Amino acid sequence: MARSMAEETILESTERTSGREALRKNVQAAIALAGAVRSTLGPKGLDKLLVDDQGQTLVTNDGVTVLETAKVEHPVAKMIISASSTQDKVARDGTTTTVVICAEMLRNAWQLVRQGVHPTIIARGYGEAEKFALSSLDEISIKANNDQIKSAIETSLAGKLDKGMEKHLSNLALQAGEVILSKGRADPTRVKVIKQTGGNMQDTTLITGLALAKSRIHPEMKERGGPGSILILDGGLERRKPQFESKLNITSAGMVDAFRKAESKSLLAQIENLVEIGCDLLVCKEGVDEEARQALSNHGILTYRRVEKKDLDLLSRACGANLVPDAGRATKEDLGAFIKTREELRGGVNHWILDAEDSGATLIARGSTEIVLDEVVRCFADGLGVACQLLEEPILLPGAGATQVALGRRLRRYAETVPGREQLAIEAWADAIESIPRALAANAGFDGIDSLLKLTATQNESGDNIGLDLDDGDAKDTISRGILEPMKISRQAISGATEAAISILRIDDVLWAQMDAQIPDEVQESIQGFGAE
Ligand code: ADP
Ligand code: MG
Repeated sequence: MARSMAEETILESTERTSGREALRKNVQAAIALAGAVRSTLGPKGLDKLLVDDQGQTLVTNDGVTVLETAKVEHPVAKMIISASSTQDKVARDGTTTTVVICAEMLRNAWQLVRQGVHPTIIARGYGEAEKFALSSLDEISIKANNDQIKSAIETSLAGKLDKGMEKHLSNLALQAGEVILSKGRADPTRVKVIKQTGGNMQDTTLITGLALAKSRIHPEMKERGGPGSILILDGGLERRKPQFESKLNITSAGMVDAFRKAESKSLLAQIENLVEIGCDLLVCKEGVDEEARQALSNHGILTYRRVEKKDLDLLSRACGANLVPDAGRATKEDLGAFIKTREELRGGVNHWILDAEDSGATLIARGSTEIVLDEVVRCFADGLGVACQLLEEPILLPGAGATQVALGRRLRRYAETVPGREQLAIEAWADAIESIPRALAANAGFDGIDSLLKLTATQNESGDNIGLDLDDGDAKDTISRGILEPMKISRQAISGATEAAISILRIDDVLWAQMDAQIPDEVQESIQGFGAE
């Protein structure tokens, strides 16, 4: 098969790199990536202004957003970004942490390789360190009470918005989480978000139940309270337009008329069927004709039309109703149940609110501009993710670097018991995990190394809960200060970062494009800054 020009060029400029050289390049890519996000770590981290292809701007303090927006083609960088995306999906937080730790693990591995330690040994040592650290987390963790859960949600939002807003969204996230908690499970997809541009973000509110920015099809229709039965129609109640073939010569005006009559009859028959099966509330994807509206109104069937498919799906789940294509063929079994239906004005917009067995909650997000609004929605989603995790598993770890320092102390003791070169790898892993307190300190304007030494010394005397006060640089108890993080975040960050680092260490020979411009300039520039704390 003939190769295209493009393929030809790529293959020609591709060179086979192997062993050390490949690893060096990969480590460099990882370090570049970490350099791009490290300065956002922690509540004193900087915001990044991102500009995408269309010239849209986005201000964020979120590591994964930075990485996902950057056009990164580098295969190793992609692996690390994918680890941070997994972190985001699984734990909703800790994405920057994952990237920073992973890069630091690779950098330390590179130092060992240069001293003659084989990557396979390092990979094995890293695996051991990961196992040991994960089991140590149990010793460091505490069981959370309700106040501590709230603090942990606030910690996860720290630095993303202003303090007041972080508190407000944390409260809403916890409330939403409590609404959807059922049988020990809290599924964040049961919280719907409606974006309302305009107004102050402080006016963001939570509604218990499923809310849609909709009004019933006619004000004369009675707003019935409920409980009752709901039918969800994946269609509408509209007359079809006559579609005679153009060839057909319509000789009599009566033909069109007859067609209309038949259609009206069919519409009314469909509505009769709804009455028969006992439908109180009708929701349609498409429109409802005037005469159908009249009939529905007469029968006291409250109706909403032109509801988006995704909302129909939510309604169907909330009420346990089937999506039916044809009102005429709907049966009793297709009906779902609702508890209450009402309409309310929120931010000047009418909202239809439905309470049902499984109707969850709805956030009405407000923000002066689209950008602010998006940030509010993103923060709420993060907070909600953390709230759900903590309602399911109320186990917390001390934040502000405390957990990483506590792990580092344990790992160094453990390393002494491991014979051979793996010991060096375990120490390198411990160094890497301690990059978090170092970076937190550096981003707050303190010396990273001094801060780490202070934390380690204080923990040796006072225990695992000592972390960094970013205002004065002192080592303090973080539990009483309410800087807390869900167990799941640290667990996932540790395993995600280690696994990505190990797979990168195992790539010992790659096909490599000579052209090295796969990392965006902004990211490249930060290479120099890395490790200079
Ligand atoms: P990530 O993307 O990894 O979640 P963040 O920018 O959210 O990164 O920073 C999280 C880190 O900030 C955690 O290590 C957390 O313990 C720390 N942190 C959060 N709030 C505080 C605080 N008030 N003081 C010190 N550290 C904090
Ligand atoms: Mg975070």
